[in-house]
Amino acid sequence: MNVPLVRPDLGEAEIEAVTRVVRSGWVTQGPEVAAFEREFAAAVGAAHAVAVSNCTVALELALRLVGVAAGDEVVTVSHSFIATANAIVAAGARPVFVDVEADTLGMDPQALEDALTPQTKAILCVHQLGIPCDIDAILRVARARGLPVIEDAACAVGSAVLRDGRWERLGRPHGDLACFSFHPRKVVTTGDGGMITTSDAEVADRLRRLRQHAMSVPDTVRHTSTRVVFEEYIEPAYNYRMTDLQAALGRPQIARLDAIVAERTRLAETYAAALAEHPVLRAPQPRPNARWNWQTYAAFLRDDARLGQVEVLQFLLDRGIACKRGVSNAHQEPAYADRSRWRAGPGGLRVSERLRDGVVMLPLYHGMTPAEQEAVIAALRELAERGRS
Ligand SMILES: *Cc1c(COP(=O)(O)O)cnc(C)c1O
Repeated sequence: MNVPLVRPDLGEAEIEAVTRVVRSGWVTQGPEVAAFEREFAAAVGAAHAVAVSNCTVALELALRLVGVAAGDEVVTVSHSFIATANAIVAAGARPVFVDVEADTLGMDPQALEDALTPQTKAILCVHQLGIPCDIDAILRVARARGLPVIEDAACAVGSAVLRDGRWERLGRPHGDLACFSFHPRKVVTTGDGGMITTSDAEVADRLRRLRQHAMSVPDTVRHTSTRVVFEEYIEPAYNYRMTDLQAALGRPQIARLDAIVAERTRLAETYAAALAEHPVLRAPQPRPNARWNWQTYAAFLRDDARLGQVEVLQFLLDRGIACKRGVSNAHQEPAYADRSRWRAGPGGLRVSERLRDGVVMLPLYHGMTPAEQEAVIAALRELAERGRS
């Protein structure tokens, strides 16, 4: 049996939703986007949510919104999908890469503090693979310096943190703005798509203008007006819209988000049990103050494992199990070979480099059948035998 790394869970509800939009005759940003924004905001506990084309542009817009411009520095992690660093470059700024914590894969708050300079304009932290970073510690460092915090929550819809005895979903947001992705690799998909959440109504209004050429009157208002309306273009901007087709696809998935996270959690628990005594891989350890959506199942190579990462990946691939190595590091990619584009914090990036080569991502997706997970676990059992011999 071949088991993919992920498989989007799209069924009759999604087919019906997209069909409804096609029949309506309005396919670009319109009533479905507005409804998706309301439902998404309610699901994560945000006051406002603004839909855009994808999370990469969501991050770029968020950086612009907090005032990041040419020549500024933004402290972030290298250990992330390349879009995190690229969004900073797209905003004209320079990424300052700091190391991550080995268990959360998130920004190390001490490394953040050590990397701040008068050029620092903002902090961009990542809830990597849906695992909440230590957002409270990061916020303490940021607030002491009056710096805005943007959360790259691309993978993290449905993840939560315990604050003052209450579970809060990521995206309220806890920093100033949080950005989500709806790429098919994520927990909720619209094909491509992104969302920015904020507590500030004025910020939400400005984001809504900036995603649509900074048009003073949205087309949806113009089309329904009984009076002649002329729009104005308030500042140079761009087209970052989501379409109604995409939004309609996302709505049924947001409606069943609790069930999606519960199912993924069960799959993760089954893997954790299978890896309990495993000689090669070990299960990740959630912290008591964080709940994950299990966007990705990251198994760690044990320090004393007799097999290396490439051998493990090949072993599983040979048995039809699609796997990936750990999260990449921007500073190790050709795009960042030019050292003038970025700098590293004083602590270096040793943990980031170790994690890229010390993690194996296993297949995990809601809709995964028991037979599929059993095929992965059978391969892990065989791997254990190989690891012991
Ligand atoms: C997927 C991802 C992005 C980019 O999202 P897109 O919607 O594909 O642009 C950004 N940051 C992280 C951490 C991601 O995993």
